[in-house]
Amino acid sequence: MPFKAPDCPAVKGFIETSFVDWKGNLSSVLFLGGCNFRCPYCHNKDLVLNPAGFEDVPIEYIAATLRKYKNWVDKIVITGGEPTLHMSLFGLIGFLKTEGMKVKLDTNGSNPSVLKGLVSEGLIDCVAMDVKGPLDRYSRWCGINVDERKISESIEFIQGCGIDYQFRMTVVPFFHREEDVYAVARHLEGAKDFVIQTFRPDVTLNRAFSRIRPFSPQKMEQIRKNVSGIMSAGSARQQDDQRRFSVIGPNNDGDMDNLYT
Ligand code: SF4
Repeated sequence: MPFKAPDCPAVKGFIETSFVDWKGNLSSVLFLGGCNFRCPYCHNKDLVLNPAGFEDVPIEYIAATLRKYKNWVDKIVITGGEPTLHMSLFGLIGFLKTEGMKVKLDTNGSNPSVLKGLVSEGLIDCVAMDVKGPLDRYSRWCGINVDERKISESIEFIQGCGIDYQFRMTVVPFFHREEDVYAVARHLEGAKDFVIQTFRPDVTLNRAFSRIRPFSPQKMEQIRKNVSGIMSAGSARQQDDQRRFSVIGPNNDGDMDNLYT
């Protein structure tokens, strides 16, 4: 049967098999270009600022690869950039569902209505939201003016929507105070998964941030313990490694993890 391409956004990157993008699972990964935030520490700056600089990955190729690996890989992560900027995201995920895939979405939480639509249509199985810092100064963390009510709405929705989820925060010394991490932990109290990520200075959207040294593993462990104490009903674990389009490495659990958006 001839392949019928779905209406979907341009895919700017495709990892066929990955152990690090959906914790505990083998998955494929799709990267969509563009983002409405300008986080100064962003390590995907080219994908954010110049998505046209990446060649599109043909959806036919993606479909053929997923079919080739279907006995081993039935999960796929959609990341960016910020995937919810693309309204044809629904078409892309709908297509992936017809291919039998479980779908995880990475998001900055700025589009709660898209998130709600995806969940209500049964299109996503897991969501990972980056929380950039305490909500009262949210625009500071994102490099643009942000409606923090939308961020709050996304957080609340994710915690109650019934699908698997994870919150993540990248801790950037000097940019964040230690107290900022604890303020986020208090906001997320009760969340079942909050990952604290170590900042990596190798590639940053604002070049000045590449001169910041990340906190030491000992300091991050101390922060993680304090966060665990704050989140009485939640769990906190530390994620010390990142990848994409950069690096992979083992974290403190011995797992391979990554930093997404
Ligand atoms: S860190 Fe994420 S939300 Fe921030 S600019 Fe980069 S891709 Fe966008």
